[in-house]
Amino acid sequence: MLRQINRKTKIWLILLVLFPLLIVSACASNPDNQHKDSATPNKDKENTKSSDTAFKVVIDPGHGGKDNGATGASGQYEKNFTLSLSKKVQKLLEDEPQIEVLMTRTDDSFLSQESRDRPKYANKQDADVFLSIHGNTFSDSTVSGTETFYYHKHSRQLAQIIQKHVVEATEFRDRGIKKEELFVVKDTNMPAALIEVGYMTNPQEESKMWTDEFQSRVATSIVKGIKEYREKSEEQGILEWIS
Ligand SMILES: [Zn+2]
Repeated sequence: MLRQINRKTKIWLILLVLFPLLIVSACASNPDNQHKDSATPNKDKENTKSSDTAFKVVIDPGHGGKDNGATGASGQYEKNFTLSLSKKVQKLLEDEPQIEVLMTRTDDSFLSQESRDRPKYANKQDADVFLSIHGNTFSDSTVSGTETFYYHKHSRQLAQIIQKHVVEATEFRDRGIKKEELFVVKDTNMPAALIEVGYMTNPQEESKMWTDEFQSRVATSIVKGIKEYREKSEEQGILEWIS
């Protein structure tokens, strides 16, 4: 909490210093810009900028193909839940002008764990964020809740932000974030998190998890988390660049 306040105060101080400087430089360079505008069309500038600044998000629906994942209390498979929810996240992210969304699978394909297909894909795409979506399982059907896993230190903040938003949407028990040696979050080069939305082996949680309304709410919360993370990481980027 204290660190957050300090960071905000720092940003305000920087803005207070930068704002008059920006006005002065804008006034001074204005006549010059007018000349340049006639020579270089603005359109080109804008196009280059948007493709350069796109924030690449890889969404990874857990399991698929011969890997069913968990079998829910109702007998339905986790792989279908993860795909359905991930496609909702994909659809929402496609409407975000500054975000480019990529999927590790969009159908019932099998992706090999041995050959590390999922992290390899994200690394090859040079993604900014990787999110793997899952449903949890346990022998005791009373166990419940939402949790998020991460591995590298640089992924902790992403896991925290995602967990905060998803728990708000599921209204399940908040099991918090955990550091765990899972290959999808370990072998990815960028900040990565694995969300366990709820327990498919818990009949109450599972029945909610299959509803369209619940999945839409969770998808919206994941998008909110990604956007908050993007803003925070950019703020930190500016601070590192100035200091
Ligand atoms: Zn899973």
